[in-house]
Amino acid sequence: MMNIKETDKKYIAGTYGRFDLALVRGKGSLAYDENGKEYIDLGTGIAVNAFGIGDEEWKKAVEEQLDAIPHASNLYFTEPCARLAQMLCEKTGMSKVFFGNSGAEANECAIKAARKWGLDNKGEGYSTIITLRNSFHGRTVTTLAATGQDSFHTDFGPFTQGFVYADADDAADIEKLADENKCCAVMMELVQGEGGIHVLSKEYVSKVLEIAKEKNLLVVIDEVQTGNGRTGELYAFMNYGFKPDIFTTAKGLGGGLPIGACVFGERTADVLTAGSHGSTFGGNPAACAGACSILSRIDGTLLDGVRKKSEYIKSQLENAKGVENISGMGLMLGVKPVRPKAEIIDACMKNGVLVLGAKDKIRLLPALNIPDDLLEKGIAVLRDALADY
Ligand SMILES: *Cc1c(COP(=O)(O)O)cnc(C)c1O
Repeated sequence: MMNIKETDKKYIAGTYGRFDLALVRGKGSLAYDENGKEYIDLGTGIAVNAFGIGDEEWKKAVEEQLDAIPHASNLYFTEPCARLAQMLCEKTGMSKVFFGNSGAEANECAIKAARKWGLDNKGEGYSTIITLRNSFHGRTVTTLAATGQDSFHTDFGPFTQGFVYADADDAADIEKLADENKCCAVMMELVQGEGGIHVLSKEYVSKVLEIAKEKNLLVVIDEVQTGNGRTGELYAFMNYGFKPDIFTTAKGLGGGLPIGACVFGERTADVLTAGSHGSTFGGNPAACAGACSILSRIDGTLLDGVRKKSEYIKSQLENAKGVENISGMGLMLGVKPVRPKAEIIDACMKNGVLVLGAKDKIRLLPALNIPDDLLEKGIAVLRDALADY
């Protein structure tokens, strides 16, 4: 049998610091390594496997589409992407959708649309986008520039111009930047994921919305990680009671296949016109058929379950030994451990539980439908690892 780890290390570009674990199969919230060892999955491939690994309904939808027509290109109409776009709009009150294949591509589309909107509606030069410090918006040259962390702004310059960064939680900073620059939009994650599960307060967000209105800025919400039921509502902005001008999503929407969506509200629905943007794989019928299956099942009952499971995790970890604090919403939670996060992640893995990190925190992104018994077992292992110092 091939030595997976050695072959990977020899032939795969060294961009990933992988854990010492090769996964070969999985089902639901359980995954298995080369030696058949079982793991409870509290990371879902970074919030992608929304209903667990290889969810049966999702698989059936994808397989049926693979048999019908797996790819057609955007030169032709296909049913799954039209159906998915309709569902996304009807469930959110938004107007139109562009499909790409990743979070970064969804954000690229949002950035292009925001700039075109600025040009059309405010005039030449109104192209600057305000993003937040500690944000993460992707790995392309432009979405790296949008990412408000200096550590991402090295080695690959020159970066795309036209981004300025505001301190998260400081509305006055946004106001100042909006006055100093010719801006078209403010773009943010409502729960900063890679930035360490930092939840923006409702007061702050409502101030940002006021400023955006006053200064005529589009509000662009990056729901790549927070979207699709993750925070206990279908999209995180629903927890805050507003509708953005553009939101982007990816990760969990695909349920295991690559997809990204840039979703436009009324003010931005017709900004992009024929020939102004495109993607060969975007709206791929198999990926969209799977996404339809995921999105159609994120209903009130499922979201109730997400919130209940979230409360359970918080109740188990909030005052537990070795925990400094816990942050997040729904099943997107950050646990700040007393000892270094890497030690906790390793100890959990040794004991058959997969958790993620984000900055100095342990990040939990379990399946939205993780069975309670597996969640209890997984959290018990994490609790022991946190307490052992
Ligand atoms: C993961 C992530 C991205 C990038 O998504 P890719 O699919 O890796 O390109 C962008 N924004 C946020 C908030 C993310 O969590």
